[in-house]
Amino acid sequence: MKLKHLFLIPLAGITITLSAQTHKKKAATAPATAATTLPRPKLVVGIMVDQMRWDYLYRYYDRYQSNGFKRLLGEGFSCENTLIDYIPTVTAAGHTCVYTGSVPALHGIAGNDFVIQATGQSVYCTRDTTVKAVGCPPAVEGQNSPRNLLTTTVTDELRLATNFRSKVIGIALKDRGGILPGGHTANAAYWFEDKSGNWITSTYYMNVLPQWLKDFNDQKLPETYLKQDWIPAYALDSYVQSTADINRYEGKFKGTDTPSLPVKTSALYKNNLGLIRSTPYGNTLTLDMAIAAINGEKLGQGDVTDFLAVSFSSTDYVGHQFGPNSIEIEDTYLKLDRDFASLFTFLDAKLGKGNYTVFLTADHGAAHNPNFLNDHNIPAGMWSSNTVRAELNKYLLDKYKVENLAISFGNYQVSLNNASIKYARLDEDAIKKDCIDFLSKQEGVAYAIDMAKAQTANIPDELRTRIINGYNVEHSGVIQIILKPGWYDAYSKTGTTHGTWNPYDAHIPLVFMGWGIPHGRLNRETHMTDIAATVAALLHIQAPNGCIGKPIVEALK
Ligand SMILES: [Zn+2]
Repeated sequence: MKLKHLFLIPLAGITITLSAQTHKKKAATAPATAATTLPRPKLVVGIMVDQMRWDYLYRYYDRYQSNGFKRLLGEGFSCENTLIDYIPTVTAAGHTCVYTGSVPALHGIAGNDFVIQATGQSVYCTRDTTVKAVGCPPAVEGQNSPRNLLTTTVTDELRLATNFRSKVIGIALKDRGGILPGGHTANAAYWFEDKSGNWITSTYYMNVLPQWLKDFNDQKLPETYLKQDWIPAYALDSYVQSTADINRYEGKFKGTDTPSLPVKTSALYKNNLGLIRSTPYGNTLTLDMAIAAINGEKLGQGDVTDFLAVSFSSTDYVGHQFGPNSIEIEDTYLKLDRDFASLFTFLDAKLGKGNYTVFLTADHGAAHNPNFLNDHNIPAGMWSSNTVRAELNKYLLDKYKVENLAISFGNYQVSLNNASIKYARLDEDAIKKDCIDFLSKQEGVAYAIDMAKAQTANIPDELRTRIINGYNVEHSGVIQIILKPGWYDAYSKTGTTHGTWNPYDAHIPLVFMGWGIPHGRLNRETHMTDIAATVAALLHIQAPNGCIGKPIVEALK
């Protein structure tokens, strides 16, 4: 039997016609080319909800509308036990992990800010001083690119797989929330600039904003929204899932007397359009921008699969200010639910139901406010890295006669002053041991671990794995501090934060819906690193080049 394996060029649409085997009963000169198709969705929409704990899917379930979160759960596939595989659980590392399937040890985004160990310099994850802002007057907020990212993303792999015919766009109020998911080869990433109120980009991507975005910015939507004030969606006493509105756990807006709704944003926003970030309007504006990008770039309307990576950041700003038990965060999720309903309805109309794939996940969760927990007899506490670092440096100064030997406690890691250690010819191992002894005695500290010896540390395996995965030799400190459950490094007595290994920070939602996705739910443990592997499998493309996750095969048809 003669096999003729022709590989024909991709046809219009998203169909690739493969060869046909010559039917052995037919003349060898007349191969029958039966078309088998390699179908793909028209568009993938990766949705990240910044600081969304997994339990928010259910905490507010009774009040979600039928076509937002409930549609995702009702039609899609939910991986109910998806965990983050590394520490620190922060925004930049989370967005990077979801799209690379990789961990800080490999992808290099070791925090929102991280210390370059060779120089002692602190670097912002996407800061790139070689590029300039596009879309606003010169601003440092525009000097961003994905250059610090050391691996490819699944969006890069889609671009490579289609010889750059697929379009990839990243969008988020936060620069890092749009840039890192878009990868190195994105057609664009766009983020919000507070002073101008514009969505901007950098010269890494282009020199002039596309006309559709200029038109979008000209609508001045941030003012329009803020003028309407933050009014709760329901009567305040009906928010039964949250603490009564005025309490000591929440941070108030500057210029207001109490941390409560409604917020007169119309009176507060003058000269500060960035206020929109900390209101549900920030998410609605992000939705408007996503829809403008789909229309403006005709995403999902060409011959190949496109990818829109959109991250909703306001949930994080509101979460930090008010905490998980606040009416403000409940109201923010109820409004986000309505925004998602609008997005899915729009996508159905634009691309056809079932022609696109959506996934929703988060970059990290958040803790409860420790005072709130203490008031309910649950052990928790606030730690102060600044205070403890100052005390540690005093102790080291007494012993080694060198100032500021611990230069940073960022990301719950101790970065040492390597230049001073070298200059004074000090013994780094002895200093590390002194730091560990000192830190281990501090209130709230469960462990202080020498990064180089994590493999043999007497700690639970789950912690060991997360430390090793999070440790980037060039970008991470040399000692990992693990606080006790319920404790965090508090920059404020109100609100909350995240960054630890604990389930409240590391258990994230993961729901797929649409093209190629069966309906169902999975309770076995899955990992944040599995998301990119699963999307790559769905699209029949290579996994990103630092991916250590595995496809969640149950979530694929
Ligand atoms: Zn975040």
